[in-house]
Amino acid sequence: MKDTNLLQLALGLTSPWTVTGAGFDAEAHRLDIHIDFPAGSRFPCPQCGAANCPVHDTDRMSWRHLNFFQHQAYLNARVPRIRCNTCGVRKVTVPWARPDSGFTLLFEALVMTMICAMPVAAVARMVGEHDTRLWRVLHHYVEEALARLDASEVTRVAIDETAARRGHDYISLFVDLDRARVLFVTEGKDAGTVAAFANDLAAHSGDPDTIAEVCIDMSPAFIKGTAENLPNAAVTFDKFHAVKIVNDAVDQVRRAEQKGQALLKGTRYIWLRNPDKLSDRQQVTLDALPTRHLKTARAYQIRLAFQDLYTQSSAEAGAGFLRKWSFWATHSRLPPIIDAARTVKHHWDGILRWFDSRIANGLIEGINSLVQAAKAKARGYRSSRNLKAMVYLIAGKLDLGLPA
Ligand SMILES: [Zn+2]
Repeated sequence: MKDTNLLQLALGLTSPWTVTGAGFDAEAHRLDIHIDFPAGSRFPCPQCGAANCPVHDTDRMSWRHLNFFQHQAYLNARVPRIRCNTCGVRKVTVPWARPDSGFTLLFEALVMTMICAMPVAAVARMVGEHDTRLWRVLHHYVEEALARLDASEVTRVAIDETAARRGHDYISLFVDLDRARVLFVTEGKDAGTVAAFANDLAAHSGDPDTIAEVCIDMSPAFIKGTAENLPNAAVTFDKFHAVKIVNDAVDQVRRAEQKGQALLKGTRYIWLRNPDKLSDRQQVTLDALPTRHLKTARAYQIRLAFQDLYTQSSAEAGAGFLRKWSFWATHSRLPPIIDAARTVKHHWDGILRWFDSRIANGLIEGINSLVQAAKAKARGYRSSRNLKAMVYLIAGKLDLGLPA
């Protein structure tokens, strides 16, 4: 077997394409494979599909291919432009690469697989390409997959924001709760993000009017955005967020009290935890405190009681429980706790909605960790466009349609 035949087989080339030669440069660690077609070959029109179009002229191109052992490999060919009776002169699409890509499909598939597992910059170093070229490949596959995304069956959505970089910029995530996938990512955390989501949904066979349940934190922007753009959605306020509001109030009580109570120094994390999560040392510290006389300890008890809301058996039981809790909290004479109770009262229905919807952003905790991974993998990303593409890639459950 001639080495060109082997390469022909390995590349899976079909008529009229044949391997005509190969050049190996050991010093440059480079293999060049030359591909050509016989004179007089005819090609289908890439535009309309008309068969047997004659070649008008050719254009020399080369593509980075999968490595040949430790050596970089390139395919080189003259790509014909054909003359179609209907479409005029058109460049043929070669079977091993996308139009205008400098990589073969298999090389792109390898790169995409690697990008799913490690930062783009690391992939770029490993394959010896500039990362902007790899980002271009990633954007292509993500955009193609998003164009095929079908949102027609989406009815329950969680919305969450996350810091894009160093806590300054934010992106908002819209998650399909039933399929545990990110549907939509956009910059910002204002009401406009929900409007953008509704538009995106409509563009993917979804219908904003059929969204029945939405889980959000208590940010006025998401409340307003949901009311205006997802008109039939019942709002559930994320329970972790609700507990956090009361927890933050405990911390404020502790900070104020600590000014006159040296005993409270170094106890911050005790009050932020649940009793069963305390370390032995924290337990000893807690036991030694005169908790009976501490405002912080009272605030802590009120917070622990608030969590019990979520162990109630029904929405009715929950409402009764919350009424009693609110009475206790508003009569606690602890201003931060009274404020938290007011916030709870203000978001009453959405807090109790949990008993019927049972949705929480904790359901998307797995997604959140994927997003953190996306941020890590997009480290050194040059734009929020790159971060968004990475979130879609990692958390969007996209069908990338990569060649096998
Ligand atoms: Zn044509």
